[in-house]
Amino acid sequence: MSIDLTGATARAEIDLDAIRDNVAELDRRSGAAAVMAVVKADAYGHGLVPSAQAALAGGASYLGVAQLAEALTAREAGITAPLLTWLFPPGADLVTPLRADIELSAGAPWSLREIAAAAREHGRAAVVHLKVDTGLGRGGSWGEDWAEMVRLAAQYQAEGAITVQGIWSHFVWADAPTHPTVRHQQEVFVEACEQAERQGVRPVLRHLANSAATLTNPSAHFDMVRPGIAVYGLSPVPDLGTPADYGLREAMRLTARLVGVKDAPAGQGVSYGHQYTTSGPTRLGLIPLGYSDGIPRDATNVGPLQIGDLRTHIAGRVCMDQVVADLGPDSPAAVGDEVVLWGRGADGEPTAQDWAAATDTISYELVTRLGARVPRVYLRSETSSGTA
Ligand SMILES: *Cc1c(COP(=O)(O)O)cnc(C)c1O
Repeated sequence: MSIDLTGATARAEIDLDAIRDNVAELDRRSGAAAVMAVVKADAYGHGLVPSAQAALAGGASYLGVAQLAEALTAREAGITAPLLTWLFPPGADLVTPLRADIELSAGAPWSLREIAAAAREHGRAAVVHLKVDTGLGRGGSWGEDWAEMVRLAAQYQAEGAITVQGIWSHFVWADAPTHPTVRHQQEVFVEACEQAERQGVRPVLRHLANSAATLTNPSAHFDMVRPGIAVYGLSPVPDLGTPADYGLREAMRLTARLVGVKDAPAGQGVSYGHQYTTSGPTRLGLIPLGYSDGIPRDATNVGPLQIGDLRTHIAGRVCMDQVVADLGPDSPAAVGDEVVLWGRGADGEPTAQDWAAATDTISYELVTRLGARVPRVYLRSETSSGTA
């Protein structure tokens, strides 16, 4: 069923060819390593299923999601590629994902025990990735817990309850490739893999690199890389390079249509709290997107906008459903005109990265927070595979 978009106030165009091409570029840059495209959080706001299909068309051989429900959604949509998921609470139903051929990460002895128990119930070996904490201080095991994980893995493997497909970890400062922790974490990672090997646990996939490490640190590629943000054409290291510098292009273009244009006198306060005041007679444009759509309230007076030839920013406070732009006194803008919030940097449009810089966050947060009521409109060339 297609939605009637004539009443939609805004839309996010998702360029599936960009996702496909970005993955192909990441695959090229990661040499012999395989690519796991990370499509968690609804593919960083781009839409899980079409984005995953585009990533597979670009050469990804694995998909990664954070939660069981995301993995099951991908399977229900008919995606059969290898799929890893890594966050679930104790007591979760793991038999259903095992039946759906979903690979599970064990980050601690308790989760490995639960995976083995579910596999016995399912009657087939669970495909497992063991997560080692090499210093991030977040998920995964270290020290005695890691030793316990390896012992359990060897035992469950011998029993036929699990197959250890991967050992993996995550960086603290991948976006600062020369930070001393980067080299150190790689050494700890290699040692953890060797420790497992000494006990007969030999995964085929050691994986450590997120987007930043995929693009800036070939020594961290190991057997597979795990890019997320770069799949969507955003730079994980904006201080080091733009998407174009890495052969990537932004896949999301967020636009809205002006629903009001009116004259305003000099000295007119604009929006709640009158946080903006017109400096002279001008025209004001009303843009029907607000914080409930994921436009951060911190974008008050700073969120970049492109309206025709005018590059400006939000005037006044971001409201729940609306923001205002000061179009200037001679603006030709009319109701119905397109406003670009973020799109393609190479086309001269403001980008999600520009928004991140203006609002003191990262591009990841802006795209992943884009609200469910903004329709995603999928663009692809005739020759692309997959359906959305
Ligand atoms: C989100 C995530 C990634 C992808 O990170 P990017 O910085 O978006 O490339 C990789 N691995 C893990 C464990 C993650 O949580």
